[in-house]
Amino acid sequence: MSETQAQEIVVSARTRSGGCQCGAVRFRTHGALGRASICHCRMCQKAFGGFFGPLVSAPDEGPGTGVEWTRGEPTYFQSSVNIDRGFCQRCGTPLTYRHPHGIELAIGAFDERDDLAPQIQVNFDSHIPWVTAIFDSAKRQATDDTAKQEQIISFQHPDHDTEQWPDKGLHL
Ligand SMILES: [Zn+2]
Ligand SMILES: [Zn+2]
Repeated sequence: MSETQAQEIVVSARTRSGGCQCGAVRFRTHGALGRASICHCRMCQKAFGGFFGPLVSAPDEGPGTGVEWTRGEPTYFQSSVNIDRGFCQRCGTPLTYRHPHGIELAIGAFDERDDLAPQIQVNFDSHIPWVTAIFDSAKRQATDDTAKQEQIISFQHPDHDTEQWPDKGLHL
């Protein structure tokens, strides 16, 4: 194994953290994540309130692997006979997709997502007709957004674990 290959495996197998928007539910994954995908099925559209479901399969449960809930736990909605979907009861962030063979986590909920590019599109037959063209739409200048962002007082949990949330002095 080359040094580069060894480094890639360490990166993919590292412990990762993430959670919902309000911070009431936080998780860690231990062990390498599996396949990252987007799912176009109607259930994923509804569950995410979006155009598709972005999910990555989590390691199997077991010593040193699996998903650990480090603050709170999701609430589950059983969306079909063999499937349930976990979300934060407080803020509504979709977090999990659980099926008989394992669990998948919402990619956007991870604190670091840059290396979680979807490798496959699932249930493409169900895709919204215009979804393949969404990135062709006009792009607003970043300078406008930056100025507006600076005026926002955010109550969103930051992209790292915290000792206490809401932070001292932050009233949600
Ligand atoms: Zn929440
Ligand atoms: Zn789906």
